[in-house]
Amino acid sequence: MRRSLLLAAGLLACLPAMAQYPEKPVTIVVPFAAGGPTDKVARDLAEALRKPLGATLVIDNVGGVGGTLGANKVAKAAPDGYTVLLHHIGIASATALYRTLPYKTLEDFEYLGMVNEVPMTLIGRPSLPASNYAELAKWLDAHKGNVNLAHAGVGSASHLCGLMYQAAIKFEMTTVPYKGTAPAMNDLLGNQVDIMCDQTTNTTGQIEAGKVKAFAVMSPKRLPVGVLAKLPTADESGVKGFSISVWHGLYAPKGTPKAVVDKLNAALRVALKDADFLKRQEALGAVVISDARLSPAEHKKFVEAEIGKLGPVIKAAGQYAD
Ligand code: ASP
Repeated sequence: MRRSLLLAAGLLACLPAMAQYPEKPVTIVVPFAAGGPTDKVARDLAEALRKPLGATLVIDNVGGVGGTLGANKVAKAAPDGYTVLLHHIGIASATALYRTLPYKTLEDFEYLGMVNEVPMTLIGRPSLPASNYAELAKWLDAHKGNVNLAHAGVGSASHLCGLMYQAAIKFEMTTVPYKGTAPAMNDLLGNQVDIMCDQTTNTTGQIEAGKVKAFAVMSPKRLPVGVLAKLPTADESGVKGFSISVWHGLYAPKGTPKAVVDKLNAALRVALKDADFLKRQEALGAVVISDARLSPAEHKKFVEAEIGKLGPVIKAAGQYAD
């Protein structure tokens, strides 16, 4: 009885502060390196959120261990609305890829809403002697046991795409983990690693500039934008039925007051209609989520379904999942 009175008194003391939320900058934790695709989405979103939220947003890049370090930082942060997480499909795939995680994916976060869906592309180092998928397939055959695949750590989107691709073509590669696909891209550009599967938000500029070899889009259909429109799908290229796309979502620590969750969700809904944000995302092949799928409850349901869907996919990829 005494404990519940104390809790109620504590909650009441918080109310005036919550009513004024936000009173200081809000930090968006990005669980990957600066300059990569998740970072780019976060920075564009931060800009679009500034007005509707009424606060400056700062980015904190906490890369490492496939996005789980950054996710854990937010899971353990004060639930006051001043630390949020911009994550992607990795929040779901990590549950199947790690025997134990330092946080509980469905219990330790307030789900704020979904942001966008981003296709993935299969790209190669500039010196790779292959300029289309058929040539890549031949080159792979000739280099069995000697192919490197860069990714952003076990549980990242590039890792998931890479393991699904290896399983689909029954071809084992040496995987090289980075803290994000920004540093992975640097090594790819420097011909240190052979291939990578990464979001169009990171690869489009490099493909446009002719700085990397581009082989396929990993989405079920060809993409309608710019240089990406020239790329065949993996399925068309012979990797039958292959498809993966990355989605992004926004999360706060569990226990963040409902009023703050509602405010962040309302600001997100406005930000996702921001003309500049839409234009920038579209140019990179990303599709911004529309209202119907934007509620915290809908997004949590979606992530739960993704965990259920990805578990068997990852299990089936078996030996390639390391
Ligand atoms: N594209 C990365 C991934 O594979 C993450 C990043 O660097 O943003 O998950």
